[in-house]
Amino acid sequence: MSAIANRCVITLNAGSSSIKFALFEEVSDALKPHAVGLAEMAGEERRLTIRDGAGEIIHQAKRQERSDVPFHAEALRRILSWRQGAFPNANVVAAGHRVVHGGVNHAAPALVTDAVLKDLEALIPLAPLHQPYNIAGIVGAREAWPHVAQVACFDTAFHRSHPYVNDTFALPRELYDEGVRRYGFHGLSYEYVTRKLREIAPLHAAGRVVVAHLGNGASMCAIRDGLSVASSMGFTALDGLPMGTRCGQLDPGVVLYLMQEKKMSADEIVDLLYKRSGLLGLSGFSNDMRELLASERPEAQQAIEYFVFRIRRELGGLAAVLKGIDAIVFCGGIGENAWQVRERALEGMEWIGVELDRTSNRANEEIISSERSRTRVFVVKTNEEAMIAKHTLALFDAQSRRAA
Ligand code: ADP
Repeated sequence: MSAIANRCVITLNAGSSSIKFALFEEVSDALKPHAVGLAEMAGEERRLTIRDGAGEIIHQAKRQERSDVPFHAEALRRILSWRQGAFPNANVVAAGHRVVHGGVNHAAPALVTDAVLKDLEALIPLAPLHQPYNIAGIVGAREAWPHVAQVACFDTAFHRSHPYVNDTFALPRELYDEGVRRYGFHGLSYEYVTRKLREIAPLHAAGRVVVAHLGNGASMCAIRDGLSVASSMGFTALDGLPMGTRCGQLDPGVVLYLMQEKKMSADEIVDLLYKRSGLLGLSGFSNDMRELLASERPEAQQAIEYFVFRIRRELGGLAAVLKGIDAIVFCGGIGENAWQVRERALEGMEWIGVELDRTSNRANEEIISSERSRTRVFVVKTNEEAMIAKHTLALFDAQSRRAA
């Protein structure tokens, strides 16, 4: 394993039964990934798998654990002890955490203090499936690494620039005032992609851009001059496009029907909308786009058709919000790889200036529009971890300067 001479940052993305993490070293102005890992809990089994920057497995461990040992605290101690063994000299100055919700107050990453943590706890009702675990990751990291600065990076922060019409629902004002707003998510991915576009095509990046983040979670975002002006996701990460297992945009009357006529409980509806809908619900057998594309079952084709249909609707809507469009960017597992989805999403889109180069598209090239296309279309590999690491180091430096 290569030695590490410079400052390092660890990024953490804690879910209910997994923690994704990465170790970056600052080399000149860039951040070099040395390790990318996943700690997960499957029943009583706790697994830890770590790969190097090139994707080769460098550590793998499994063990049975009594279920009363808290997963996050224990996993973070194991990650720390692996790091101490594998990179004993690494100078880890800060840990950056992905936090799904920053509410209305956090438009930028924040150094974690007791007050910030309290703020984030108050937002749990707005993201009950993610926020408690993100917080458990922070609390565990503070315990395991008491001398390392902890930084929270928010998925909502990038969208705080939304104008009022894209921030509100048409509900009584007091609900807006208490936080029932269109927050938007996937912000760290949009921010990374926006910065990358600035390197690849600065003129386009300064214009009107629609980014489609299409992974297991999927959303689209309209960006003007680098700032988010509208997003397909709203109050929660359920709205907008259909996803692997989430429904996407839904008439609220359906929820009323499920409650009133089918007598479903809130928990049952949560399970239906988050875990049994989307591509899985429509196809009846898979949430994985690769499997759907390979299948000849008509339900699989209909699931893809619905996915594409919603992308097209959203693209038209966001182009109208921006009053025209200079660039489209695809990212996420589907956006970066599924050329069939891109081809179908962009078919007949000449009216917004898009002319696809089918050959480049099928080869997943960086630019997939033709030379003549007025609107340029890009495929960019997103990297939320790198964005978290950048923010974390920048905030750490700003804090150190202030303290000096
Ligand atoms: P997450 O939101 O969990 O980070 P990803 O961004 O990894 O998800 O995206 C996962 C999705 O990308 C899955 O539906 C998967 O099938 C799809 N995907 C990954 N690689 C390909 C590929 N080569 N062709 C088509 N779809 C792909």
